[in-house]
Amino acid sequence: MSSLSLFFTFVFSVLFLSFPSFAQSPLNRPSNIGTGVFVDFIDAEYDMSFSEIADAVVGEKQFEINVISVVTLNQLEEGYILFDLKPDVLEVIVDGERTRLDQVKTERTSSGVSQFHKVGKFTDKGLHTLVVKSKMQIWTKNFGLWLNDWDDRAMLELYVVSNLQYDQYPMRFKLNGKSFFKDSHVFTNGIEVEDANSIVLEFPDFSNSSSVFLNVVPNESLSGLYQTTYLTDDDRKIDVTLYSSSGSSDEGLEKTYNERVKVALYDLERDWGAWPHDSLVLAFDDCNRSMEHAGAARLCEHSAIEHELAHSYWGRGVFPADGNSSWLDEGIATWMDHNLIMQVRSSYIDTDLSNNGKYFRATNQSSYTSGARFLIQVGFLLNAEKQVERTENWLMTQCMRSFYEKYLYKTFMSIDFLDHVVNDCSNGSRADEIRNLFAKYIF
Ligand SMILES: [Zn+2]
Repeated sequence: MSSLSLFFTFVFSVLFLSFPSFAQSPLNRPSNIGTGVFVDFIDAEYDMSFSEIADAVVGEKQFEINVISVVTLNQLEEGYILFDLKPDVLEVIVDGERTRLDQVKTERTSSGVSQFHKVGKFTDKGLHTLVVKSKMQIWTKNFGLWLNDWDDRAMLELYVVSNLQYDQYPMRFKLNGKSFFKDSHVFTNGIEVEDANSIVLEFPDFSNSSSVFLNVVPNESLSGLYQTTYLTDDDRKIDVTLYSSSGSSDEGLEKTYNERVKVALYDLERDWGAWPHDSLVLAFDDCNRSMEHAGAARLCEHSAIEHELAHSYWGRGVFPADGNSSWLDEGIATWMDHNLIMQVRSSYIDTDLSNNGKYFRATNQSSYTSGARFLIQVGFLLNAEKQVERTENWLMTQCMRSFYEKYLYKTFMSIDFLDHVVNDCSNGSRADEIRNLFAKYIF
């Protein structure tokens, strides 16, 4: 193959491979974003340099992180590249040229106004490089990429240049200055790559702004650590790590693993298939709200173990493409808890599950019980009104399992789930009723 045709094959594959998830991005050029365009990240490298703030006094933040985000991206329309990043931006460089940054605000919806950055350089369709230098300050050496899907703009954009949830791309984090971390543990769902000077972590192609787990814990903050292996249903031996910075001991974590985690893993594998990740990391921490990552979770209380593990399938195995699609993974995670079924069936369902505005990135908080109740209603139609109990609601279970298999490692939207239910799960006679149910509660 000539180098020219190799080049075209490369460009074609990049465009071809990246197109499906990009189709889920919000519409470009909304009137108040002008010629700003959403793009498709191809890959991202995040270089983070940690240092002590020399003149910080007690009661102030003690450490600073200087971040260089380097993104290779594909632009499908000419215009000004849009992205997000919350910390202070120091410098923006597009294709080697320094440029300014503008803030753009989206139209106001019932959930508020969202915001992005728009670069000052107009660029054509095709591949580009975006380099952004930014900095943030932290209180202690205990540093985590903590995400929050109840707020807008609270995913990876809290720390590094990020795209919206529709976009999946391989990421590489480089934490510079090994000496800074010499008395710390690094817990992650990524793969650590050998490097003399830095801690280098790589995250898979399906990663998005919600999937990465990374927590650096100073040894003195660690109260317990339990590491073991788990043999998955498809015979992979995966590393399992439970750690605590909130008082649980090594023995306590071992007991939690044997009595809760392992049991939950068996149940999940029986219902949905083999554990879909290469490891499992569970952080037991003093925090306000537990949060799921891909094959990992931050747990503020033990009662969240099963729920957050379920999200490694629903939410971080198949990924909601935006805040308006995440009612499904909260609904299913709630639906799976058999104890809640009696409470959730045939009661009130919020009619606003997927109505946050196109650019908003937060999950509707009524997604949990209303989402579960909605799924039970759909199951009720599929089962010709005979069965609504989870254990007997086999048509709905089958329907969700085939949806999971279709979208594993991919992003989905609510409309994809409706199409699946109508086309692959119903015999056609109930299609209109199912569409009406989605129209009433979801869209
Ligand atoms: Zn949840």
